[in-house]
Amino acid sequence: MNAQISLIQQVDAFLPQTQCGLCGHRDGCLPYAKSIVEGEAANKCVPGGQPVADAIAQLLDRPSLQAEQSVWPIQSDGRPQRMKAVIREDECIGCTKCISACPVDAIIGSGKLMHTVLTDLCTGCELCIAPCPVDCIDLVEDLNPIPSEAFRIQEQNDLRNRYYAHIQREEQRRITRKGPIVRAEIDTELFAQFSAQSNSVPTVEVVHKAPELAVKLDAKSTIELAKIRTQIKKLEKQLSVREDQTKRQQLVELNQQLISLQGC
Ligand code: SF4
Ligand code: SF4
Ligand code: SF4
Repeated sequence: MNAQISLIQQVDAFLPQTQCGLCGHRDGCLPYAKSIVEGEAANKCVPGGQPVADAIAQLLDRPSLQAEQSVWPIQSDGRPQRMKAVIREDECIGCTKCISACPVDAIIGSGKLMHTVLTDLCTGCELCIAPCPVDCIDLVEDLNPIPSEAFRIQEQNDLRNRYYAHIQREEQRRITRKGPIVRAEIDTELFAQFSAQSNSVPTVEVVHKAPELAVKLDAKSTIELAKIRTQIKKLEKQLSVREDQTKRQQLVELNQQLISLQGC
């Protein structure tokens, strides 16, 4: 088992860590690396192009296959043109959907405020484009020189770390999330298993909701919340007829209880 994990990590080390899902693995490079070791063809990484397909075939002593084609032209290093996302900031409505979609946390901004892409971190994976409700994100050519091999490895390691940190944050939010999930839920278990085997990536832990807490919250939501709402309505009615400091204070406290229970 450890030998297989080590082999998956070696394959993963060749993959660009764009986490784009174009290989058919929506959760990114690690699940594709695992699937390659289990027998899937090694030529499906679109941003990696022919150099990555060849390197993995050589590692696994398999025949080299022609790499899946990219829509972008091929650079002199044999890989597809690197791209970057750019937000047309004057059109951005600050909905934050792109932040959650970005696997490497390359977008900054907060609710109702303009968002911007940290260009140095953007891999051009395109995952932020579809969720944008006003279609204000463009992809442009990365005009930087083609990176050296050493720079590429460093960049891949950094992107892998950022992705693990992103997964852990999304996992923590999963339990309490109220809004829609922009990106399909990630298979956190797999990343947790690999992070436990490596000191070079941030730890990923699966967050479980305690079953007894779920039962308790369910009871609260069906009985206590209803009770508090009835009391609030009653007090509001009484206060609309005649002001009373004690009742006003009770109303404030009940509203606080309601918010706190709903926030669980
Ligand atoms: S970079 Fe390659 S291996 Fe990673 S998710 Fe994209 S296509 Fe798959
Ligand atoms: S900003 Fe968009 S294109 Fe760039 S890495 Fe994030 S999701 Fe991908
Ligand atoms: S998804 Fe589009 S509109 Fe929403 S914050 Fe991002 S760039 Fe702005």
